[in-house]
Amino acid sequence: MNPTYQLVCPSCGLRFPDEYNLTCPSGCTGLIRAEYTTSQLSIRDLPGLFRYADWLPVTGHLPTRSAPICYKSTALAGKLGLTDLWIVFAGFWPERSAYVTSGSFKEFEALPTMVRLAERAKGVILVASAGNTGRAFAEVSSKTGKPVIVVVPEKARDRIWTSTPAEHLLLITVDGDYTDAINLGNTLCTLPGIYPEGGAKNVARRDGMGTMMLEGAVTMKHLPDWYVQAVGSGTGGIAAWEASMRLVADGRFGSDLPRLLLIQNEPFIPMVNAYQAGRRDIIADDMKNPKEAISRVYADVLTNRAPPFGIPGGVYDALNATKGVMTTATSDEAKAAGELFKDIEGIDLDPAAAVCVAGLIRAVKSGIIKPDESILLAITGGGYERIHSNIPTSVHTPDLEVTQDTGSESVMQFVKEWVSRYA
Ligand SMILES: *Cc1c(COP(=O)(O)O)cnc(C)c1O
Ligand SMILES: [Zn+2]
Repeated sequence: MNPTYQLVCPSCGLRFPDEYNLTCPSGCTGLIRAEYTTSQLSIRDLPGLFRYADWLPVTGHLPTRSAPICYKSTALAGKLGLTDLWIVFAGFWPERSAYVTSGSFKEFEALPTMVRLAERAKGVILVASAGNTGRAFAEVSSKTGKPVIVVVPEKARDRIWTSTPAEHLLLITVDGDYTDAINLGNTLCTLPGIYPEGGAKNVARRDGMGTMMLEGAVTMKHLPDWYVQAVGSGTGGIAAWEASMRLVADGRFGSDLPRLLLIQNEPFIPMVNAYQAGRRDIIADDMKNPKEAISRVYADVLTNRAPPFGIPGGVYDALNATKGVMTTATSDEAKAAGELFKDIEGIDLDPAAAVCVAGLIRAVKSGIIKPDESILLAITGGGYERIHSNIPTSVHTPDLEVTQDTGSESVMQFVKEWVSRYA
């Protein structure tokens, strides 16, 4: 069978077959990409977002109804005086055929990532997360029976709920913050048979998120002038840029890359500060008093302290290549924008998506975006109220609660034994 894609390193140009690599085998630092044999996208007759399997680094698929949906806005567009505003929605909204039961576009990352791992390596995936990512992987695990290890800070334990009981989920809580969860996750990934999900470095995560742009362009029948998204790591912005390069190469969607408008939630805005200062690197001054700043944001999924910003092929390059703009929204603006969206478009938003709407409003008011430009507004999560009233969700009880007193040997032993069931 001919492979449908290979991996390519944008730094040294090396092309190589996928062995679940997260980096270039020659040691380059840039983000490796998937290069697909099919240069013209066809919509496949496959479930959920696997209809975009032409441009996902997988050969198989999973049974799912999860996919982005896109429609042209009249209510919000009218309110803001915009003539060509399109909404691409990731979440749960049955009236619009949106069935993302974990509620956010992290599920578009989890689905192809779990297929890619199963096809390219033998082992169990590990995710360290403070919320939406962990829940998305838990949800895919609950629906497919594929094992996953999720490590979260103790405070985030209630965020790991699923629409079906997650019987193949190992949930570990850490008495500490997100960084402590990441550190424990890294240690556990040294055990044989455990693979890190890799964040922005994972081509399956990026190309899964890139389906937001694909769905938008296919529905609009053209690439938009702007792609608007709230960012924490910026991976969604990188993914949108990469997807739009493929759509330009396809030839049927126009020849101009959409400009990225990426938004962070004040007062934690490291990427905005670095980009507006024209710096490829985020410096300490870009995130003064991070703990205090993070405690004041409305959308804590947007508070990544080590985003893939300056890395070759990262957020800085994506912004530069697309004549992109970064802006901010305050927590109050975001709350008001979330209320407005719910009132007039008719669905509740994830706080991060509310930040995105607030950022759009600012950009229109300040003239960055012109009223007649075509806009693809990425609503990256929403419909939680509908999920909780329509679906009996269950919160997963932690399988292991790690405290300061837990010996690392006993943690390793526990996890090793759990993984051996799936080896
Ligand atoms: C994670 C997340 C984001 C930010 O994603 P990036 O990786 O920074 O692009 C935005 N909205 C929601 C709902 C999220 O869960
Ligand atoms: Zn390389």
